[in-house]
Amino acid sequence: MYDAIVIGAGPAGLQAALTLGRMHRSTLLLDSGEYRNGTVLHMHNVVAEDGTPPAEFRATARAQLADYRDVEIRDVAARSVAPLDGGFSVVLADDSTVGARHVVLATGVADDLPAVPGLQELWGIAAFSCPFCDGHEHAGRPIGILGAAPRAQHLIGLLGRIVGEITAYPVGEAYTDEETAMLEELGARVSPEPVSAVAASASVDGGVRVSTAAGGSDVAGVFVASAALRHRAPFAAQLGLRLLDSGSIEIDDFGRTSSPGVFAAGDLAHRSSLPGPLASVVMAAAAGQLAAIGVIQSLSAH
Ligand SMILES: Cc1cc2nc3c(=O)[nH]c(=O)nc-3n(C[C@H](O)[C@H](O)[C@H](O)COP(=O)(O)OP(=O)(O)OC[C@H]3O[C@@H](n4cnc5c(N)ncnc54)[C@H](O)[C@@H]3O)c2cc1C
Repeated sequence: MYDAIVIGAGPAGLQAALTLGRMHRSTLLLDSGEYRNGTVLHMHNVVAEDGTPPAEFRATARAQLADYRDVEIRDVAARSVAPLDGGFSVVLADDSTVGARHVVLATGVADDLPAVPGLQELWGIAAFSCPFCDGHEHAGRPIGILGAAPRAQHLIGLLGRIVGEITAYPVGEAYTDEETAMLEELGARVSPEPVSAVAASASVDGGVRVSTAAGGSDVAGVFVASAALRHRAPFAAQLGLRLLDSGSIEIDDFGRTSSPGVFAAGDLAHRSSLPGPLASVVMAAAAGQLAAIGVIQSLSAH
């Protein structure tokens, strides 16, 4: 029986395990190897690690965790989580079962991209969604925005002062006249034709060829306005956790969910005072530390 099983070893789970290990709380950290920024070559907006490859960040964190005797890491997926005898039993993909007094869910979310041929292959390399993470690298250069007008409007508002020319491409159906007028008023060019495919550009280094029925043009990168988020793992549903309108797990200041003993941290959870998950490496790590403190408070109280 561990004090805590942390499911997920992205920034949220790695930080939760570090804090628990430093407080000598027996901790099992599980990792199925599916990271939200798994294709990203360089992460940004991470103090002291700006530009670091995410894989290097995770490897360093794991190497440092190896010094903590109370932290065990297993590269195996968890399949199910259920309450058992005042704690939790977790069934793993290798059919073994492990138990803990607390669980920290840090399994993150996955991005369901619009069905644009070639987009998945460029995701995290030349196709992005977060202006804070990848806007500055496109300073002064032309970019494309793919997808829904309301989110495109939001992206133009944030990226307009950073990048060069912005072209908005509808996905599926053309923008309405009102949407076109609104996007043009913000200073964007608007493609009358929906995007039909994207591919690595042959003429712009690291850039993207955006094709429509009318032809194609090259930009330095594209930002996707129509990605949908999906929980990477089924544990919120299995445990009947309360969700917010955003679809995220509701947590309090210390990562407590609606189910006693179950904590959550990272992209899959946020407090009700926020409009949605503030998805970033720093925020996920901070949430992981808060959840670990919540676990330690609970362990100390019993
Ligand atoms: C294209 C892209 C670029 C980004 N760039 C940046 C950037 O530059 N800077 C920045 O700050 N943020 C960036 N982000 C956001 C950042 O990646 C996330 O906010 C961050 O990774 C969230 O951390 P997390 O720990 O919540 O989840 P994740 O990092 O997604 O980690 C989830 C963990 O859960 C594990 N897991 C899932 N299911 C199971 C299971 N059943 N059993 C066991 N383990 C499981 C996974 O293997 C993984 O270890 C980017 C995101 C995207 C999509």
